[in-house]
Amino acid sequence: MHDVVLIPGDGIGPEITDSVTTIFQEAGAPVNWIRCSAGLTAYEELGNPLPEETLEAIEKHRVALKGPLTTPVGSGFRSVNVELRKRFKLYSNIRPAKSLPHIESRYADIDLVMFRENTEGLYIGKEKWVAKDKHAESIAVVTREASERLIRAAFDYARENGRKKITLVHKANILKYTSGLFMEVGAELAEEYPDIEYEDLIVDNMAMQMVMYPNNYDLIVTTNLFGDILSDLASGLVGGLGLTGAANIGDDAAIFEAVHGSAPDIAGQNKANPIAFLLSSLMLLDYLEEQGTADKIRQAVYAALADKKVCTPDIGGSGSTTSFTEAVCKNL
Ligand code: NAD
Repeated sequence: MHDVVLIPGDGIGPEITDSVTTIFQEAGAPVNWIRCSAGLTAYEELGNPLPEETLEAIEKHRVALKGPLTTPVGSGFRSVNVELRKRFKLYSNIRPAKSLPHIESRYADIDLVMFRENTEGLYIGKEKWVAKDKHAESIAVVTREASERLIRAAFDYARENGRKKITLVHKANILKYTSGLFMEVGAELAEEYPDIEYEDLIVDNMAMQMVMYPNNYDLIVTTNLFGDILSDLASGLVGGLGLTGAANIGDDAAIFEAVHGSAPDIAGQNKANPIAFLLSSLMLLDYLEEQGTADKIRQAVYAALADKKVCTPDIGGSGSTTSFTEAVCKNL
């Protein structure tokens, strides 16, 4: 039995969490959930968006499944997601986007995986307001160390998972130092992995390429903010944000979550698609080397997708979070 910290999160978080825990129980997954809180819910109830008990639990158990957390826009507390990734040195954000059976999207046979640097760059929000000059500043720090550990993890993953090509995405034509350093490290490491095809592309071109020729890409590695944006784009290629899971992995801890956020527009309506969070939880089972259970649940999800009556509205279904969950359980 594996002890895993479970943070249901905000918005649709509790609904998709119920879905995952129900399916895990029905599948006999060897996971013992340690429930903790974080995000807006924790802030409202306990006055702290990242309570000490939650940090201690992750520190102790080193593996967590985390629902989406609401981050106030513009002002308010800083992102708990960013804090968790930094604190536990979860430097690889791995986001696969794979076409699923019975899901209509503009493309077929998409199978790509994004490796996003998770601890530095513009996304960290190192910002300040300079009152004297009435301007705002944002500082992007890119280090050789963080770039190297992420890009090396991507090459190693490619080797271990039969990926043939890596595309490094940057903006080194304009951001010559930060993006330039990331690109330089990529080119150096590519020499150590001659068995993996390697190329680099500028991010604006990459956005267009991914929309026009997504099947040309296999594994994409990029800095934090570009990865944040392009991974939502990748979700769109396979049918939307309700379908893509993610892992935040470091050398000795891992937190799994969906790519999507807390979706306040549909929270509490039994409309949330649980598949993204479920796929994240299957990445968690793979990480715990429980592939047998993961495959069993994966097959049950694929089978449930065949019946539009049980699927959620975002993927063209007329069902709900609970009807999909029940269908997966029946197919186990
Ligand atoms: P979002 O991902 O929550 O929602 C974007 C759109 O996709 C919405 O229309 C929503 O209804 C839909 N959607 C998302 N997940 C869905 C699902 N499972 N099923 C069906 N439809 C789904 O993005 P947002 O609205 O920009 O952000 C809302 C909040 O979430 C913000 O506070 C943001 O900071 C936070 N957020 C958190 C994470 C995270 O915890 N890792 C990631 C992204 C955004």
